[in-house]
Amino acid sequence: MNRVRIALQKSGRLAEDSLALLRNCGLHINRSKDQLFCRVKELPLDLLMIRDDDIPVFVSNGICDLGIVGENVFAECKASGEEFSAQILERLGFSFCRLAIAVPETSAIKTIQDLEGLTIATSYPNLLQMALTEGGVRAQSLHMTGSVEVAPRLKIADAICDIVASGATLATNNLREAITILRSEALVIRSDKKVCEEKEAVIQRLLNRMRGTLQAEDSKYIMLHADKARLEEIVSLLPGSESPTILPLQDGATKVAIHAVCREAVFWETLEKLKIAGASAILVVPIEKMMA
Ligand code: ATP
Ligand code: MG
Repeated sequence: MNRVRIALQKSGRLAEDSLALLRNCGLHINRSKDQLFCRVKELPLDLLMIRDDDIPVFVSNGICDLGIVGENVFAECKASGEEFSAQILERLGFSFCRLAIAVPETSAIKTIQDLEGLTIATSYPNLLQMALTEGGVRAQSLHMTGSVEVAPRLKIADAICDIVASGATLATNNLREAITILRSEALVIRSDKKVCEEKEAVIQRLLNRMRGTLQAEDSKYIMLHADKARLEEIVSLLPGSESPTILPLQDGATKVAIHAVCREAVFWETLEKLKIAGASAILVVPIEKMMA
């Protein structure tokens, strides 16, 4: 079978952005909500929609060649001590969150050492154990598969170790974030199992398209008019741009046009500085795709 298989979250916080990324790679994906398997026309690629917890194992054992999963889930699976053969191929810059120890708002706990002898409820027993061992702390871990945040209120744990994004869930449950264990974002992972040349070529094509999409998202095309005398100053203000293009203006004795690809965010502050440096007719345009 020479079709590449990629594991995605079926539904949840990763699902939409994962599909959006593949669509931006030029793939048409029509699937109904309950569909688990989806064939893509544009590339020899099949999607397998599963729970995010299953993605690292499906990729590690080679059932899927690639997967899109949160670093928290990937790291937890890797830390399990069982045989694991998958690696990170790309960081995707979405689904940002942290794995953190949170404690009741009234608690004095500040450092990992303050957890000595306490009970911590978590769905991430392996990462928690690693952090405790690293800190030289002996504490009890209480494994829960969900609703971990209720454990301190029920007096079955002194603290929790869970995913935090905005912190709203913690606040609702009178908890505060005390110690960050892992910073996480969505990842593309791949199996260490060797694949045939055809499949490898498809993986590389897909990866290049993903990288092109991600780069384009961060980049802007900027156009402006500038005094020839202040060219150097203006070019130095363009964030993350390599050699810009300088073009003559039809009636420009003193001015030229500058066109540049900025590979970093272009903020209002940058435009204000450009304006002070004498730039005019400033345009910032989004870039859809990039290929070096
Ligand atoms: P599943 O049913 O697939 O097991 P789940 O309930 O375990 O789903 P979700 O809540 O959908 O998981 O979160 C999926 C991943 O998204 C998390 O493992 C984490 O990497 C990331 N994530 C979690 N919370 C947030 C958030 N508030 N914002 C963005 N990303 C998040
Ligand atoms: Mg899950």
